[in-house]
Amino acid sequence: MPSSPYRGRFAPSPTGPLHLGSMLAAFGSWLLARHAGGRWLVRIEDVDPPREVAGAAASQLATLAAFGLQPDEPVQYQSRRHGLYRAALERLLADGRAFPCHCSRTDLAGQHGIHRHCVGGRQRPHPAIRLRVADDTHVAFDDGLQGHFGQWVDRAVGDVVLLRADGCWAYQLAVVVDDAAQGISDVVRGADLLDSTPRQILLQRALGLPQPRYLHLPLLLDAQGAKLSKSLAARPVDATDPLPTLRWLWAALGQEAAELEGIDALPALLQRAVAAFQPGRLRRDAIPAARPLP
Ligand code: GLU
Repeated sequence: MPSSPYRGRFAPSPTGPLHLGSMLAAFGSWLLARHAGGRWLVRIEDVDPPREVAGAAASQLATLAAFGLQPDEPVQYQSRRHGLYRAALERLLADGRAFPCHCSRTDLAGQHGIHRHCVGGRQRPHPAIRLRVADDTHVAFDDGLQGHFGQWVDRAVGDVVLLRADGCWAYQLAVVVDDAAQGISDVVRGADLLDSTPRQILLQRALGLPQPRYLHLPLLLDAQGAKLSKSLAARPVDATDPLPTLRWLWAALGQEAAELEGIDALPALLQRAVAAFQPGRLRRDAIPAARPLP
């Protein structure tokens, strides 16, 4: 575990404007970094052109700026870092930990999409590359909020795709290489990525990279305690009026709503938030925000 200074990050994929769920991760990771007196970085995870929406990265950065969440170092773009991913992949191939795989999704349908050995008959000019996951591979870690989490990676996931057959880098490889290259000590993100973490730890071990601390923020609940519906969670936040959203997120992060009352300037509100933030108030299950959606 890192003993180095705190370095956190927010790493959105440019698939659309920032919504409440992504802003919870942005604000939560920013607060934890500021509270620790650490640095906070932003990385645009644009390695999946088929899923990318034109203009989304610029809009996400503009929204963060409008919310006063300014990164401490220049924004990194994964699309400009292919060389790093290539070098990591080549090491894994040279070590015999990674292998080319010609199986298609249809080939693996009978195994619930989980690859344990190649079944594909048709050779492709550009196979996928996978990380070999040995039988009975159990990876566990202690999440800063969700507690102890373990996974049998061979059974839950199988051999992990590192380079897709369409030539795109898999998120799992790029995120591990970048978190290490940027010296990230603390990964704070949404709980939807909790079950990706054992795969990422396995890759860190295969590459001899340090393991950051992890903290997965809960998924959002609405005021009735139900999981926020996709359409509400996906509604873009209003960058022209950040204060109501910040107050809403503050409460959703389990913080005392009264702390931010009566402040109507953004810098003052953020300053108060950093001073009043109590990580111990974060809850594993999202606290339904007492207020209606912003
Ligand atoms: N790019 C990922 C996403 O937007 C998040 C990656 C991460 O925080 O590890 O879902």
